[in-house]
Amino acid sequence: MTSPASLARPVADEGILATTLSQFHSAADAIGLEDRYRAYLTSWKTVFQTQFPVEMDDGSIKIFEGYRVLHDTARGPTKGGIRYSANVTLDDVRALSMLMTWKCAVVNIPFGGAKGGVIVDPSTLSARELQNLTRRFTTELEPIIGPDKDIPAPDMGTNAQTMAWMMDTYSMAHGYTIPGVVTGKPVAIGGSEGRAEATGRGILYVLQEHLRADGGLAGRTVSVQGFGNVGSVAARLIHEDGAKVTYISDVHTALHNPDGINVSAAYAHVGRGGTLREWAAETHGATEVDPAEVLTADVDILVPAAVESVLTADNARQVRARLIIEGANGPTTEEADAIFEERGLTVIPDILANAGGVTVSYFEWVQARQYLQWTEARVNEELQRLISTAYRAVAARAVQMGPTCTQREAANIIGIERVVEALELRGYYP
Ligand code: NAD
Repeated sequence: MTSPASLARPVADEGILATTLSQFHSAADAIGLEDRYRAYLTSWKTVFQTQFPVEMDDGSIKIFEGYRVLHDTARGPTKGGIRYSANVTLDDVRALSMLMTWKCAVVNIPFGGAKGGVIVDPSTLSARELQNLTRRFTTELEPIIGPDKDIPAPDMGTNAQTMAWMMDTYSMAHGYTIPGVVTGKPVAIGGSEGRAEATGRGILYVLQEHLRADGGLAGRTVSVQGFGNVGSVAARLIHEDGAKVTYISDVHTALHNPDGINVSAAYAHVGRGGTLREWAAETHGATEVDPAEVLTADVDILVPAAVESVLTADNARQVRARLIIEGANGPTTEEADAIFEERGLTVIPDILANAGGVTVSYFEWVQARQYLQWTEARVNEELQRLISTAYRAVAARAVQMGPTCTQREAANIIGIERVVEALELRGYYP
């Protein structure tokens, strides 16, 4: 099988798509994957691109560009977030959709990977404009999304409210409520208890599993980049589990307290609509430092949980944490990964570390389809079971593959093998 010419576009030699493809090929090489599978797995089922109008508050019409990319459906309908960001590119969305395929397979949930995005800085839009944009984009996506086809979720710049608008728009087009079309909805309209915290909580469970035989989290020092959905919850839960979070940051500020930041208090302040900078100034709970320091801090554990490609050839040698757990998608470039490997640092990869979100999205989808509601305790228990099992499978596979196999390679291998198994069982249609 060869890739179709229209989709096999040249790939830039840097950026998250190049990194994702290169990581795929290293894992494929390690297991001697046949060429026909490589061609299939590096093609995309659907690449959807649209330009659509939105009426702004001043009566003007603005054109926005959006994407939805479905990577693979061998294991089930596709699943993945929708991001609103000025930096969205089609290549990034393609890469992130492929990462979602491996991620769903690693935690063994019955989905393939997808991703979407709109080129927009949501902070520049009013609530009404955001709603207009979301409803029109959902209408454009209507032919390809659906509870049995492709199920979007929040990502950077989108949230539970965005998903509520998407669910409502899709339901209006069909004439009845269809809660299973998106996940990450508010609990009041079919969202799952525990979904909002799921990605950060998954990071905690993976860390606990990784450190189980080594004394756990208590007393360890931690630096967390990003204080949004993923970073703030991960930082708070890690702090509450007894670790000392000495650095936190968001896009505006980076904070340091050598005695440990009271992350629960910072989290509560930000939850009330405040900013990290204000919180630090009001409470004297931490001092502002150079944001670059958060990544190279003298700590045991580093959690990049903001954006992609922040750990690069330029700063990888300065990173002092011996353990890096990727909260964000694609925070480590290929060059940085090679340096970490050479230096003997452990990187727990995004497709395992931040899989808590999609895992609880799966629970939300299951609950939506059965019109029942699990308790938060049940959600967390099931999340812990699936993500800890996934961690152990990845760790065992890395050991089995030999000393040069990283956790990233082992996770990619597991993801690829599970998709190939499904593909073989289903066969190629027709
Ligand atoms: P978010 O928009 O809620 O938060 C992002 C945070 O990063 C904000 O605090 C922002 O201020 C900060 N930030 C942005 N640029 C920064 C920079 N250069 N330096 C420091 N901080 C910066 O987004 P999120 O949902 O927390 O997602 C973060 C990452 O995690 C993304 O890569 C996303 O794809 C990934 N992810 C999210 C989920 C989820 O469930 N939300 C699941 C899996 C992976």
